[in-house]
Amino acid sequence: MTFPVVGMVGGGQLARMTHEAGIPLGIRFRILSDTAQDSAAQVAADVTVGDYRDLDTLRAFAQGCDVITFDHEHVPTEHLRALEADGVAVRPGPDALVHAQDKGVMRAKLAEIGVPCPRNRIVADPADVTRFAAETAGYPLVLKTVRGGYDGKGVWFVRAEADAADAFRAGVPVLAEEKVDFVRELAANVVRSPHGQAVAYPVVESVQVDGVCDTMIAPAPGLSEALSAQAQRLALTVAAELGVVGHLAVELFETADGRILVNELAMRPHNSGHWTMDGAATSQFANHLRAVLDLPLGDPRPRAPWTVMANVLGGDYPDMYAGYLHCMARDPGLKIHMYGKDVKPGRKVGHVTTYGDDLPDVRERARHAADYLRGTIDE
Ligand code: ADP
Repeated sequence: MTFPVVGMVGGGQLARMTHEAGIPLGIRFRILSDTAQDSAAQVAADVTVGDYRDLDTLRAFAQGCDVITFDHEHVPTEHLRALEADGVAVRPGPDALVHAQDKGVMRAKLAEIGVPCPRNRIVADPADVTRFAAETAGYPLVLKTVRGGYDGKGVWFVRAEADAADAFRAGVPVLAEEKVDFVRELAANVVRSPHGQAVAYPVVESVQVDGVCDTMIAPAPGLSEALSAQAQRLALTVAAELGVVGHLAVELFETADGRILVNELAMRPHNSGHWTMDGAATSQFANHLRAVLDLPLGDPRPRAPWTVMANVLGGDYPDMYAGYLHCMARDPGLKIHMYGKDVKPGRKVGHVTTYGDDLPDVRERARHAADYLRGTIDE
């Protein structure tokens, strides 16, 4: 028995942080990256630069890997099936992953297993959107392309039939959903192994700004024990029913009348789990690796009563390192994670984490550091 090789498709920050988690375990890590400059490609020793949409490239990459996993969900399902037919261990496998690739498939499956979702159906054209509006709560409503969206791209808030045309331009099937009047967004994150062992992290509050995840608070403040347990159970059920292997993020809406509805699934490490790197006994990345290798999973419990993660977005000020002196001097407990990405306005280039006993203080420290590094405040 030698140390296994884990191959990750995608060279973004999720691959970079998964690689980091594998180092203390001696796990060998191979990356299929779009370019040699991608976040993970900069720091890993074994990098293949190639196109994940090309089956021959995937096949060559998989040679010598004990298992293949992903930092994004864009690999065509049929390629994953071909790899499995070659005998490659693909985790999560294509039958699970398709639910994170195609929102239509995901909605149909969640309905089948009785998981609460916003009312939805596939719509054919703008006139059909109006029929859907009449069947449900009317306009405004939400249209989503079933494939290819991320960070709010591929999502349209539509007030009238005349606004609906944009969603159909890509030629991808369109899902209509009632617009949920939620009080906040939550994420229930779990990790499941092929053995069927699973762990659940505390449910977090996910604060979104302009369709992009901004801040995570763990655990979600004021969430009742009953709703928290319900959300964790729901995520564990989804992981088991869909046969997920690895980390599963279930993005949820909490409604004013105390219900939770599933918005979205991600079957890989996820932004809503970054807080676990510093704030939990075992990070999402370490547990994702354990799961895909079918090792026993690590303790998901938090280290402190409160952990806050704030994304660092690029601003107008390109030199993030210049901010380290001030941030580190101000807050010795601050944890900074930078992804090696060029600073561009609005781009996620890193995150910061703080933890402690006093939520307002923990939040203020994370917010301050994220804003200071971005350059939106200067003291
Ligand atoms: P993406 O795949 O790009 O992350 P999501 O489906 O998560 O897209 O939608 C992005 C954001 O749009 C969500 O975080 C939420 O704020 C909002 N949103 C999505 N669906 C609905 C809905 N049915 N009702 C209200 N808001 C929604």
